[in-house]
Amino acid sequence: MNPPLTMHRAQGAATTMPPTLPQPLRLLETSPTPPASADVVVIGGGIIGVFTAYYLAKRGLSVALIEKGRIGAEQSSRNWGWCRQQNRDARELPMATRSLELWDQFAADSGEDTGFKRCGLLYLSDDEAQIAGWAKWREFAITAGVTTHMLSGSEASERGRATGRAWKGGVFSPSDGTADPAKAAPAVAAALIKLGGTVHQNCAARGIEMEGGRLSGVVTEAGTIKTRAAVLAGGAWASSFCNQLDVRFPLATIRQSIVRVAPLAQQLPAALAGPNVAVTRRPDGHYVLAISGRGRADPTPQLLRFAPQFIPMFAKRWRNVFPGGLEGMRWGHETRARWKLDAPTPMERARILNPTPDPAGVRETHRRAIKLLPALREARIANTWAGYIDSTPDGVPGIGELPQVPGLILAAGFSGHGFGIGPGAGHLIADIVSGATPIFDPKPFDPARFNASAWGKVADF
Ligand SMILES: Cc1cc2nc3c(=O)[nH]c(=O)nc-3n(C[C@H](O)[C@H](O)[C@H](O)COP(=O)(O)OP(=O)(O)OC[C@H]3O[C@@H](n4cnc5c(N)ncnc54)[C@H](O)[C@@H]3O)c2cc1C
Repeated sequence: MNPPLTMHRAQGAATTMPPTLPQPLRLLETSPTPPASADVVVIGGGIIGVFTAYYLAKRGLSVALIEKGRIGAEQSSRNWGWCRQQNRDARELPMATRSLELWDQFAADSGEDTGFKRCGLLYLSDDEAQIAGWAKWREFAITAGVTTHMLSGSEASERGRATGRAWKGGVFSPSDGTADPAKAAPAVAAALIKLGGTVHQNCAARGIEMEGGRLSGVVTEAGTIKTRAAVLAGGAWASSFCNQLDVRFPLATIRQSIVRVAPLAQQLPAALAGPNVAVTRRPDGHYVLAISGRGRADPTPQLLRFAPQFIPMFAKRWRNVFPGGLEGMRWGHETRARWKLDAPTPMERARILNPTPDPAGVRETHRRAIKLLPALREARIANTWAGYIDSTPDGVPGIGELPQVPGLILAAGFSGHGFGIGPGAGHLIADIVSGATPIFDPKPFDPARFNASAWGKVADF
């Protein structure tokens, strides 16, 4: 399914892309050898890690960003690209609102292109209960300063005219938008390098060193970096990494599939969510098709360990989350095994987590997208891919220093909506590390809640 594609070097020269990447992803040339010491080490070069490192470097701290594979090659290049406040859980809304401002500010300050555009997000529905739910969310969102427009039947049908049918209602959030997952994380890493930070790809962090009861170094496959502070932004790998440190971080990785189709002569809405499928235009004119929240839970030792805490989440999403297969065991990101610091770990055997798309999910996504937007019938399927979504039991990330490991800040579990809030999350994490006043209240994200119970409210996707 994945034909050879091209990727772009930092200097602009194109080369053949290894088949493990689903779409063109800007490649940065970096050294795999990290420095002997740094003020802060950031583990993981997804959108959360790169923004964290960028905001730390802006404060004049020396930062080493360690990525076991390629910048942005896991979830951060596999997503739809939505940067939304619309329908956000109240706990994440301040982060979402600040993130939209920060996407704009990042482009202005760095001159780098993340593809961020406030194209607006359009939701259409015939379900009166759903429309009423959006209206209720809007009442609350207005109090938080968010602009969002409820659409009457005729307004929804007009805005959604590409669907060729009438709708009962909808909602349009004009200040929301999309960024380009093929560009965003590498663009931020490039800006970090300009600020004097260092980036090290093909360099896995295997563990940490402690001295006097706090973190004193990060052990990588290419040597130890002495440091007093590290951030674990390891996405789907964060829980098995924590397990090495005797820290319990309940995470279930859900395998979600995407279909990418070729550009069309007729321009379709930039970002549209229908009743059961979403369609997003990429800056290169391709469209990505996906079903919100639908995925496979591949059984692994980690999933079995944390299953009781995920019962409310699976109960809420049982129509969309199906049992998977042995895919999770094959990749090893949910292993419960202990690894050694002086030998290759599962992370070095799986430089880029590239799970197989679910064939039934792909067929259903394509069918629903054509039903929503009949013009898509003419679009050739370019390729399909999947990504493992790092989900917490309550659907909200864990951000904060781990009391068991002073000096180590957890920043993972973004539960399928971490791309759009990458700038705000990165800013908050940099605030926590540097002791600055937090840009917004970090309490809802405190990882300590996982020790007690995360049987609270489960966020919507
Ligand atoms: C199909 C799909 C659709 C989505 N759609 C959206 C959307 O429209 N909007 C939205 O906001 N979010 C969306 N998301 C979620 C979003 O992509 C993620 O929440 C976000 O990218 C998480 O970023 P991250 O940096 O935490 O993780 P990742 O992007 O997964 O990055 C983690 C990185 O850490 C590296 N790493 C892990 N362990 C180590 C180690 N020990 N040493 C070195 N490196 C390590 C990995 O190689 C990886 O590159 C979607 C996700 C998927 C899969």
